[in-house]
Amino acid sequence: MNFITGLDRRPLAEIRSAQSELLREQVRYAFARSPFYRERLAGVDADSLSMDDLSGLPLTSKEDIQRKNSAFLCVEDKDVAEVVATTGTTGEHVYVYLTKNDLVRLAENEKRCFSYAGIGADDLVLLSVTLDNLFIAGLAYYTGLVRLGAGVIRLGPHSPKKHLEIIETLRPTGIVAVPSFMSAIYKQADKDNISLERSSLEKAVLIGETIRNPDFSSNALGLMVERCKRLETYSTYGITEIAAAFSECAEHKGLHSHPDLVYPEVVDESGSPVKDHETGELVVTTFQVEGMPLLRYRTGDITFRISEPCACGRNSIRIGPITGRKAHRLKVKGTTVYPRSIENALVGVEGVENYVIEAYTGDDYADRIVVRVGSNNTGSSFKLDISEAIRAKARVAPQVEIMPPQEVEKILYEGSRRKPMVFIDRRQKVHDVKL
Ligand SMILES: [Zn+2]
Repeated sequence: MNFITGLDRRPLAEIRSAQSELLREQVRYAFARSPFYRERLAGVDADSLSMDDLSGLPLTSKEDIQRKNSAFLCVEDKDVAEVVATTGTTGEHVYVYLTKNDLVRLAENEKRCFSYAGIGADDLVLLSVTLDNLFIAGLAYYTGLVRLGAGVIRLGPHSPKKHLEIIETLRPTGIVAVPSFMSAIYKQADKDNISLERSSLEKAVLIGETIRNPDFSSNALGLMVERCKRLETYSTYGITEIAAAFSECAEHKGLHSHPDLVYPEVVDESGSPVKDHETGELVVTTFQVEGMPLLRYRTGDITFRISEPCACGRNSIRIGPITGRKAHRLKVKGTTVYPRSIENALVGVEGVENYVIEAYTGDDYADRIVVRVGSNNTGSSFKLDISEAIRAKARVAPQVEIMPPQEVEKILYEGSRRKPMVFIDRRQKVHDVKL
């Protein structure tokens, strides 16, 4: 492993030259060891590559990994140190294999993310994310904190009440959580008359949900978590397949990449890179990965890229907040909408306990959206408030239904999913359409 500490603060040309070398190494390695890339990279002269040639290399999709999972593996079975999983396009497991060195790389990535958030060796951090079930996130945070020399409380996905008890007793200075779960902790604190303002917590690293708008202001979820003025919130976004994460610095103006570990691009429909600040699909190339390196991996997530230096002094490429999943793009009366913007509207409405967004194919083959909101508020103006909030934030007017929260909960975990599915795509696939 060759971690280049401080590379993100070096001049842009120096970063690019270091990345050209890392790209050559990763391409040579993948070509030599992965049956998938040996075929995909036929004719590519790895030794003459530079970062300027990257956009000419073929893209890799999730379907590729799904269909040919073992053909991506670059090491012998005995050298696999950890197997993690992500969910494939049709709900099944897609496995990602990590070696001992990949685990070190994962920890190094997360250690840096924590230090961007001002978390150091003296901090005690409460992990409210799960460490098992083949998830990479908990593992990354845990090993990152250990590498940083910080203290860890591995509480995992326990109730908000248990979290409050641990916060009062063990006095952690930081927390890693999903933003909507943070909001559940606040609600419980209000109920129990506990002031988080007077608690030990100072920093929150928030994962899994976006807390910023594309202009970096806080969205409804972000504002909800920032209600506690004492707590500084940092957004982070990780991808299982690349075993790395992007994270905010104290400027809160986008998520930094680590230039010796990954290289992010943003591409259009045809796979060509778009200009900075233009929206498209995030594509990531890994550096220094041994188990399952990925070249130009299409993440399916929608964002934009920022190449100019950050006010924090780092010159690493940043990405904007994730505004949606490419596969979840909906078209309603000519307007493109991602379920996430509907979610952003819903979390800002008082009385909304949970929700599920469903997409159907309408009579004219246009997308039809049904939003089922779990709430005990049955007042007639409540439904109108929700419709109005969605219209204002997402510019669409879907069908809204109010249901008891436990009914929505059942839909969220339909088919015993390991994660609640907030967006359910019930649209007819092209091959289902009978003409
Ligand atoms: Zn910065």
